[in-house]
Amino acid sequence: MTLVCVPLVARTVEEMVADAAAAAAAGSDLVEIRLDFIQGFRPREHLPQLLRGCPLPVLVTYRPTWEGGQYEGDETTRFDTLRLAMELGVDYVDIELKVADKFMSFISGNKPEKCKLIVSSHNYEYTPSCEELANLVARIQAVGADIVKVATAAKDIVDVSRMFQVMVHCQVPMIGLVMSERGLMSRVLAPKFGGYLTFGILNSAKTSAPGQPTVEELLDVYNIRCIGPDTKVLGLIANPVKQSKSPILHNKCLQYVGYNAVYLPLLGDNLASFLETYSSPDFSGFSCSLPFKVDAVQCCNEHDPVAKSIGAINTIVRRPDGKLVGYNTDYIGAISAIEDGIGGPGSKDAVISPLAGRLIVVVGAGGAGKAIAYGAKEKGARVVVANRTYEKAVSLANAIGGQALRLADLETFRPEDGMILANATSLGMQPNIDGTPIPKKALSFYDVVFDAVYAPKVTRLLREAEECGVKVVSGVEMFIRQAMAPESLMREIAAKYT
Ligand code: NAP
Repeated sequence: MTLVCVPLVARTVEEMVADAAAAAAAGSDLVEIRLDFIQGFRPREHLPQLLRGCPLPVLVTYRPTWEGGQYEGDETTRFDTLRLAMELGVDYVDIELKVADKFMSFISGNKPEKCKLIVSSHNYEYTPSCEELANLVARIQAVGADIVKVATAAKDIVDVSRMFQVMVHCQVPMIGLVMSERGLMSRVLAPKFGGYLTFGILNSAKTSAPGQPTVEELLDVYNIRCIGPDTKVLGLIANPVKQSKSPILHNKCLQYVGYNAVYLPLLGDNLASFLETYSSPDFSGFSCSLPFKVDAVQCCNEHDPVAKSIGAINTIVRRPDGKLVGYNTDYIGAISAIEDGIGGPGSKDAVISPLAGRLIVVVGAGGAGKAIAYGAKEKGARVVVANRTYEKAVSLANAIGGQALRLADLETFRPEDGMILANATSLGMQPNIDGTPIPKKALSFYDVVFDAVYAPKVTRLLREAEECGVKVVSGVEMFIRQAMAPESLMREIAAKYT
């Protein structure tokens, strides 16, 4: 079982003791006491105090500045403190590879049997090749480490795969972590690749290295206790991805249906190289968002026909034969949310859609814009596309047999009453929540206003539409509905092939 360890980085002993209690209450297995963070640290006085007040097994680290820590003093005092920690009964002591030999001589190779020595190496710049990582692991083993720790930095999410490859082949217990947001996968998937422990912080102000998730996220969102070698990996590949609520929603759904998989936020830079690198059957499906929905069409071997005509894919499923199949569930989610929003006679379940014959103005010609425009057309609506880059509006309008508008024309565009407006731009999305695609005074031309943006739930567009007495439909409705489609796809695949 991979242990969940909370790094304690408080400035005072009292705060550290309180944080240790909080770590225990949060469900962690051990704490890492970072002595180098404590101001005015006095080993003989403070160490016993810290250990007495700690309800969990303890890893002691006294990281010097030359290895990314905060300790600036001499090595003898530092080694002496680590030896004292061992004598006081801590469970683990961390020593840097660069001085591990010296430390072993310092303690004359003697340490209490209970205490495990973690020999660590940190590279804050990049992740070396597999060969270099394997050599590093061998050097760490050779100095007598009980546990190998290698922490590197991810410049690209594909870097993490090299750490995974080395971890699965390591002969001794290993902690292999790749720092930065692009390396998050290494922290959550530690149990899948045999990692000895992974770090989870108490909150974002208490981080000891870049890219650490909170202990709550590890336990409650990613359900890390249930991750094992057979766990399938799913996720949202996007850039940015931090703001996405998809991991919360999908992991809950996966738990609910009892499917052994975890869904991660995957900060990517190049979809093709991501899919090529993580090509094992265990990486069995992905959602795609900005800016990869169009690239995804090229990356898939087969496409759902609607996704192909939209030219954007938001769901990729890896079939057991390795082939990637692309779907677009955005259009299903958005259209059914809009249909429900229109309501009244001829609901979405009726043979004739409530969108049939209606005039819908789709603002945006990116992935979501295309999905809504094609979806609405399929339901018999008359579609007008407005976009900042007018040429894209024209091209989408031509493709679906609709009309194109410039964004500025929305202010006066009112060919008839009872129109429907769908915002499919990122205007109004966090953090730029003051954005809106259309002046407030033009909103009264519409019967229903839908906003694909779902964070915040109530955007400026929706707030102003409500103030004008217009019916509104939130992007959250689309979000939930587009997510339910891949969930059912996964269930279908699981039922068929496992
Ligand atoms: P995309 O493919 O990158 O398209 C972005 C669209 O926004 C383009 O039409 C772009 O116009 C327009 N745009 C961006 N910045 C703008 C600005 N400052 N002023 C005017 N227009 C601007 O993105 P997407 O995947 O379609 O996503 C669009 C929005 O829908 C995002 O906010 C996303 O979160 C949301 N969305 C929500 C769901 C959901 O489930 N609720 C699902 C998918 C998407 P140009 O062509 O001129 O660049």
